[in-house]
Amino acid sequence: MANVVATNQTVLVVGGGISGMTAALEAAECGKDVILLEKSATLGGRTALLYRYFPKLCHPTCGLEINLRRIKAATRLRVMTLAEVTAITGSRGDYAVSVEVAPRHINENCTACGACADAVEAMVDNPFNYNLNKTKAAYLPHAMAYPQRYVLDPSIIGTPDAEKAKAACKYGAIDLAMKTETLTLKAGAVIWATGWEPYDAAKIQPYGYDRYPNVITSVEFERLADPHGPTGGKLLRPSDGKEAKDVAFIQCAGSRDENHLRHCSRICCMASLKQTNYVREAYGESAKSSIYYIDIRAIDRFEDFYAKVRADKTVSFIKSKVARITDDRKTGDLILHGVDTEGYHRYANRHDLVVLAIGMQPSVPAGKIPAEVIADSSGFIEAAAPGSGIFGAGCATNALDVNRAVQSATAATLRAIQVVNKAARAEA
Ligand SMILES: Cc1cc2nc3c(=O)[nH]c(=O)nc-3n(C[C@H](O)[C@H](O)[C@H](O)COP(=O)(O)OP(=O)(O)OC[C@H]3O[C@@H](n4cnc5c(N)ncnc54)[C@H](O)[C@@H]3O)c2cc1C
Ligand code: SF4
Ligand code: SF4
Repeated sequence: MANVVATNQTVLVVGGGISGMTAALEAAECGKDVILLEKSATLGGRTALLYRYFPKLCHPTCGLEINLRRIKAATRLRVMTLAEVTAITGSRGDYAVSVEVAPRHINENCTACGACADAVEAMVDNPFNYNLNKTKAAYLPHAMAYPQRYVLDPSIIGTPDAEKAKAACKYGAIDLAMKTETLTLKAGAVIWATGWEPYDAAKIQPYGYDRYPNVITSVEFERLADPHGPTGGKLLRPSDGKEAKDVAFIQCAGSRDENHLRHCSRICCMASLKQTNYVREAYGESAKSSIYYIDIRAIDRFEDFYAKVRADKTVSFIKSKVARITDDRKTGDLILHGVDTEGYHRYANRHDLVVLAIGMQPSVPAGKIPAEVIADSSGFIEAAAPGSGIFGAGCATNALDVNRAVQSATAATLRAIQVVNKAARAEA
């Protein structure tokens, strides 16, 4: 770690999702020195956890693969995983950034052979599947992980399992003595791309996410549909493994609500429209998707996608904010209660599975960023502070789809490059 060279002409990018990767690549391919810091063990962020992308329904792996190829070719880009910024001091063109790097316990010799995973017994929650299943405590975060290097879960350090993993590794890649490192990096400009996280569904008490196993969130549904997910891509109910052929999608779950997130999360209408395709793909004509919505936000080029889903006979739209959910204890089915505002009649509709189109909030609210930024009332970065060289990108600035997140990252890169170019001119 000690050999990280950074100057006031370096662009530091915080967050290795699609936005941070884009920003880092754009700057590096323009000839700038770039350091990309990611908190988790791999790049990719939340897009790596999606089954398919709207509107084309392609797999996120394609986009990820292209970016990873570019990253491998970018000689001026340095990637650091398990790294978090703890403090930023200085000013535009001359920052000192304190970074804490957690121990991975596995070094560059790792060939991702998997022998350590075979050797350990402990199982831990699997973050790649939103903890819907478990994984061995020595694991590769996912098939496309970058770096392609295993991780030892901190919970097994100091246990016989860790020694078993070390003994199984033929490449001398396991270092159980690795400690947290702190370092200070210089940078001329910082791009803050720490993305979003799902709102805590348990806080929406009438929907019973914390009580009913067959009420899940939209991000979890992405994992259910994915062949690399906990059910091997089968849409099965968590409570009893029954095929979930009749799925209800509840829109604005946590969003546009004074008691939760006030903002519209902008993506969740499109996410649910997309996810009705997963149900149809799994069960054909016997699939049944019901979307409970206030209004559908499918703007610009997404109109066509919306029209296509509207025309699908397996999908129905109920204009209503669901008031509450109860469960049928015998069958595990869920009963949705509310009033259909087109006709004003009360309903109590039964479904196999409920998917909450969960709201998106900043993963690091602006108030917790260790630097001054201008924020909106939801904690997204609205703009850089006057005279600052710290710029927001992607979902750190708003709930955005991938296309808009990438555009926002490119715009932030342009601003960062202007700052480091000025710093270079001042030094010349
Ligand atoms: C259910 C659902 C389905 C969706 N489906 C689609 C779709 O089909 N098509 C589409 O275009 N969009 C979709 N989206 C939106 C898509 O997920 C976002 O556009 C995308 O994730 C934005 O990428 P990002 O890099 O800005 O943020 P993220 O993906 O959140 O990446 C942020 C990265 O920053 C890291 N990080 C966080 N905090 C720190 C820290 N303190 N220090 C360092 N690193 C940190 C995180 O670990 C992560 O790797 C969907 C969203 C939802 C909710
Ligand atoms: S740490 Fe060693 S045993 Fe584990 S995957 Fe890497 S090379 Fe294989
Ligand atoms: S995008 Fe749709 S589901 Fe999401 S908050 Fe906005 S209106 Fe509600």
